[in-house]
Amino acid sequence: DEIGVGELASRMKKTGAEVVKTLMKMGVMASLSEIIDYDTAALVAMELGCKVEKEVVVTIEEKLIDTTEDKEEDLIPRAPVVVVMGHVDHGKTSLLDYIRHANVVSGEAGGITQHIGAYQVDVNGSPVTFLDTPGHEAFTAMRARGAMVTDVAILVVAADDGIMPQTVESINHAKAAEIPVIVAINKMDKPTANPERIKQQLTEYSLVPEEWGGDTIICPISAKTGEGIDNLLDMVVLTAEMRELKANPNRSAHGAVIEARLDKGRGPVATLLVQNGTLHQGDVIIAGTAVGRVRAMTNDKGQKVTEAGPSVPVEIIGMSEVPEAGDDFHAVADERMARELAEQRKAEQKSSMNSNVGKVTLEDLFSQIQAGEMKNLNIIVKADVQGSAEAVKSSLEKISNEEVRVRVIHCAVGAINESDVMLASTSGAIIVGFNVRPDANAKDSAARMKVDMRMYRVIYDAINEIEAAMKGMLAPKF
Ligand code: GDP
Repeated sequence: DEIGVGELASRMKKTGAEVVKTLMKMGVMASLSEIIDYDTAALVAMELGCKVEKEVVVTIEEKLIDTTEDKEEDLIPRAPVVVVMGHVDHGKTSLLDYIRHANVVSGEAGGITQHIGAYQVDVNGSPVTFLDTPGHEAFTAMRARGAMVTDVAILVVAADDGIMPQTVESINHAKAAEIPVIVAINKMDKPTANPERIKQQLTEYSLVPEEWGGDTIICPISAKTGEGIDNLLDMVVLTAEMRELKANPNRSAHGAVIEARLDKGRGPVATLLVQNGTLHQGDVIIAGTAVGRVRAMTNDKGQKVTEAGPSVPVEIIGMSEVPEAGDDFHAVADERMARELAEQRKAEQKSSMNSNVGKVTLEDLFSQIQAGEMKNLNIIVKADVQGSAEAVKSSLEKISNEEVRVRVIHCAVGAINESDVMLASTSGAIIVGFNVRPDANAKDSAARMKVDMRMYRVIYDAINEIEAAMKGMLAPKF
C-alpha cells in the first residue's frame, strides 16, 4: 500500500516538482525517489485534483480458493473433533479402542476395520469425531503446520498414578490451543485408584473440578471395564454443544490432512478431515504443495464413499505426492491453477527456510517490541529440578514491563524435548533451559523451526539476558 513519489507524479501526469511541493505543503519532506504510503498519496492526489484507487493485486491463491464467509442461515451443526491426550501408559489407546469398538452399530456393513487416523462414533444420535493418534505430539505437530482441527481435548490421567510430565505438557498444549479440557480419571477399576488425589493435583494447573466450584468436568472411567465411558461421551457432546460448532456443507471442501503415507500399490494415501464444505469423489484438491484429483474415498469403516461432509474423516487416493499431516487442503475448480499455486508454495518454502519471519528470537525481540508487534513474550522453562523450574518461572515473570508481559506458558522438569520445540514454534515462544540440554530431536527441530533456545546455569544470567533483550541491549554474540 505504498507508491514512489516519482511514480505517483507520472501516473497523475503531473511534474515531480508539483508533487514534491504539494507534499511539502502538507509537511512531508520527500524526494522523488522516496516511497510514501497510500493515505499520503491519496491526500496529494486530492490536492492536485486526481483520484486514486488502491490497486488490488489478486494472487493465485485468492483466485483459486474460495474464502467467502458463510452466511448464518447456511450453517448447520457439525460434530466436534476430539483429541485424547495424557501421559504414556495412562490409557489413551485403550480409551480410544474402547470407544471405537463399543460404538460399532451391530449389523453395520464392514464394521470398523481400519485405522485411518480418525473415526466417528454416534453418541445417542450426536456424531463425535475422534483423532485416532493419541498424545499431544501429533496434535502439536499438526498445529505447528497451522492446522486447528480439534474442538475438545480429553485428558487421561491414571487414577493409580497421578499428574506426570506429559500430563502437564498436554494441559499446556490444550491451553495454548485454547480448547476446553475434559479430564478422564482412568483405571478406576484398580484397587489403588485414588481420584481425590488427582483432583487435588489438577487444581495446581488451574483445572478445578465443578464439585469444588471450578469449571472443569471430571469423569472417572475405566477403559478396561468401560465404566463411566458413556458419561464421558455425554460430557463431550455437552461441551461441544456449548461451543455451537457449525459448518456449511454446501460449498467446496476445506480441511486438514490428518495422516499421509506412500502406499506401494496405490500411491499417496491421505486421511483428510473435512472442516467445512463437502468433499466429493472427483474433486481436485490442493494440500500444501500436493495436488490431485480424489480418485476414491474410504471412510473409517472401510467402506467406499463418494462424499464426506464437515467433521467427517476420509482416506483418499489420487494425490500427486504425499502431503504432510497438518497441511490444510482445499477442493478447487481449476487443476492447472492449483498446480501453479503448489509450485509457488514450493518456491516460498525454499526461500523461507532461510528467513526468520514470524519467529521470536532474543536478538529481534527489541525491534519487535518497538514495532508494537510484541505484547507478550512467551517462554517455555525446562529445568533439572522442580524447585529451579518454579524459581526461574517466577523470576522471569517479574521482569515484565509496560511494553511486554513475560508469560511462562509451560514450565517443567527434564531435558528440552521435541514437544517443547513444537509448542514454542506454535506459540511464538523462546525456550529457557536451566541446567538441562535439548535432546537430539529437539536440537534438530529447533534448528529447522528456528526456535530460539537459551541454556543457563545461573538464574541471574537468564534474567539479565532476557531483560537486556527486552531493552534492546543484548550483548552481540560473537
Ligand atoms: P497409553 O500409552 O496412554 O496409550 O496407554 P495404553 O492404553 O497403552 O494403556 C497402558 C496400560 O494400561 C495397558 O497395559 C492397558 O491395558 C492398561 N490400562 C488402560 N486402561 C486401563 C484401565 O482402565 N484399567 C486397567 N486396570 N488397566 C488399564
